[in-house]
Amino acid sequence: METTDAFAGLECRDCEATYDAADESHRCPDCGGILDPSYEYDAIDLDRETLESRPFGSMWRYEELLPFTRESAVTMDEGATPLVDCPTLAEEFGVERVLIKDEGRNPTGTFKDRGQTVAVTAATQHGATDVALASAGNAGQAAAAYAGRAGLDAHVYLPSRSGFTNKAMVNVHGGDMNVVGGRIDDAGAAYEEALDEHDDWYPLQTFVTPYRHEGKKTMLYETVEQLDWAVPDAICYPTGGGVGLIGMYKAATELRELGLIDDLPGLYAAQASGCAPIVEAYEAGRDEHDPVEHPDTICGGLEIPDPGASPWILEAIRETDGGAVATDDPDILEAAVQVAKREGLEMVPSAAAAASGAWELAERGAFDGDETVVILNTGSGNKEADVLRSHLMSQGV
Ligand SMILES: *Cc1c(COP(=O)(O)O)cnc(C)c1O
Ligand SMILES: [Zn+2]
Repeated sequence: METTDAFAGLECRDCEATYDAADESHRCPDCGGILDPSYEYDAIDLDRETLESRPFGSMWRYEELLPFTRESAVTMDEGATPLVDCPTLAEEFGVERVLIKDEGRNPTGTFKDRGQTVAVTAATQHGATDVALASAGNAGQAAAAYAGRAGLDAHVYLPSRSGFTNKAMVNVHGGDMNVVGGRIDDAGAAYEEALDEHDDWYPLQTFVTPYRHEGKKTMLYETVEQLDWAVPDAICYPTGGGVGLIGMYKAATELRELGLIDDLPGLYAAQASGCAPIVEAYEAGRDEHDPVEHPDTICGGLEIPDPGASPWILEAIRETDGGAVATDDPDILEAAVQVAKREGLEMVPSAAAAASGAWELAERGAFDGDETVVILNTGSGNKEADVLRSHLMSQGV
């Protein structure tokens, strides 16, 4: 494999066993736990000046902190997204600064590209011919795009409720698209069944491949660098499976380990109240979620009733003195509309849960006034413009 110098291999989150990345590619063979890429940080020689001297054109500029070489990566120059100042929101929230990290400007319109560039690179290096996943929509679209680029066949299982753009673009990228009646769990069951019949398919599933959270950690590196190495007080993240939140938590601890920052940003999980297992566990003081029995939210990317990595998500929130907040669908859609109206930025409903959550935190008095608050816009509004438009129509506009 074409790995980077400091990449040490994979470590199990549960039993702490370590593995060579060439031998193992998914969950822990001993206990079934999540595998996490690990590094010898002492061997990484990175300072602020070195990073600043590199062009801000791709997340692979942090190559030393990623498992594979940039040269070997299946990449479309994803990442390196803008961090946009939102003065109207700052005034509204009563804080010093609000910035939106605009992940909508990725190749397929969401931050899922950051995960798939690394996961599909791993698939090619393991000699896969076929990749497969179940997805609420955006991960499936991203996987189909990267698989197409790498010459792999992508088998994508989407629930019937996922958006038109996702379904259309999986086809356009040449993926094998399977629309499954029902919700994400039904798509997941159909995917598992297909996987049983095709043992040569390489899973790109969340926290089944160790590489999706690894790619998403670059969002935090960029954010800190874009703030001239100031660590934001709060980062509000729309949380489904928590891949991005865990990635950013890992990234912040890595930057601290490397001596590039001193503090960790407060990480806030924003969810939709129709499916808020993390918020419920956080508020109850539990270390793990209870699955939501009847999930129901317009935010497809957040409708994850049984997030398997919840202990890690809750650790990230607590260790960084962050929090968790849920808001209702109409408030989330209204937040998307207000951000579009007042700041110009277009947020997909799932992403707008982060804006709505930040609004709610501000209203609850969670901020003192001198904070810098970052909101992750995980996906471009034009993915689900119809949903945003129908919110206006429900108000008679
Ligand atoms: C997938 C997705 C999320 C949730 O991401 P996780 O990292 O799984 O929590 C949020 N917003 C959008 C737009 C998504 O596609
Ligand atoms: Zn294990």
